[in-house]
Amino acid sequence: MRHVELKTLDVQDFSSIIRLIEETSPDEIYNLGGQSSVQASFQQPLYTGQTSGMGTMNLLEALRLIGPQMRVFEAASSEIFGMTDSGMVDEGQDFHPRSPYGVAKLFAYWSVVNYREAHGLHGSNGIMFNHESPLRGMDFVTRKITATLAQIACGSQQMLVLGNLENARDWGFAGDYVEAMWLMLQQDKPDDYIVASGETHSVREFVNLAAAVMGLDIEFDGDGVKTRGLDKKTGRQIVEISHDFYRPSEPDPLVGNASKAHQKLDWQPKVGFEQLVTMMAESDLERAKNGQVWY
Ligand code: GDP
Repeated sequence: MRHVELKTLDVQDFSSIIRLIEETSPDEIYNLGGQSSVQASFQQPLYTGQTSGMGTMNLLEALRLIGPQMRVFEAASSEIFGMTDSGMVDEGQDFHPRSPYGVAKLFAYWSVVNYREAHGLHGSNGIMFNHESPLRGMDFVTRKITATLAQIACGSQQMLVLGNLENARDWGFAGDYVEAMWLMLQQDKPDDYIVASGETHSVREFVNLAAAVMGLDIEFDGDGVKTRGLDKKTGRQIVEISHDFYRPSEPDPLVGNASKAHQKLDWQPKVGFEQLVTMMAESDLERAKNGQVWY
């Protein structure tokens, strides 16, 4: 099967999408394009709206015009839920996004639903909770933690600077979530599915577990931005907290209920939280030993 990649910038450009679809005539399209960092969306709300929101509308409109038989997967996001009164959410949950990213992704989500209902497109939303791997970008907290701690363990970095340690996410393994995306496009009927692990863990838990894999034992003292993480062996501070990594608003801690995907897609994630952190920590430790963490 041939695989063609449409770059993030191109989804803003309608003629690029039309040209690419005409040239490649794909059976399936997986739209993972857009500005994907929640944190960056507060600094770049317009760019985020143009790529993560309008980018999807561009793609759908192109399909309506020249490829209505093509199947399309939209990477929707748990950020569309944002503020909720219950921790556990399913596909029936109300939406109240808490970031420009969440707002843009909600526009994209409804665009897929509308093109399905109005024009009969085979479009499915995967409402993706956070999914991580050793390939995760450094802008995201998981990879920032594993990459920086690995360098600290190897002596090439002094400090891991983080925002709020108490924030929690429902984190899963990207490889498992890609399988769910693919399964959605193999169904006769398009639909919307939550893809999640069903567990939340805090940033602090992630740090402790990653540190343990690398042979570091961190003891925390203080509260909020005064929290310090000390290396128990040397007494040296290796974790500090900065307001720079706090956000103007955060979603409530969310757990995804992926029962619909379990039942209708026969999908089950294979990698649990501990395995995921271990995989990322070991991979970055290996890179740090070879002086190759940053790329
Ligand atoms: P997101 O869920 O897409 O925003 O994924 P991130 O990995 O960027 O952030 C996950 C959580 O970690 C959020 O609640 C952040 O506020 C929190 N967090 C704490 N410290 C940091 C940090 O240094 N960088 C990032 N990116 N997030 C941090």
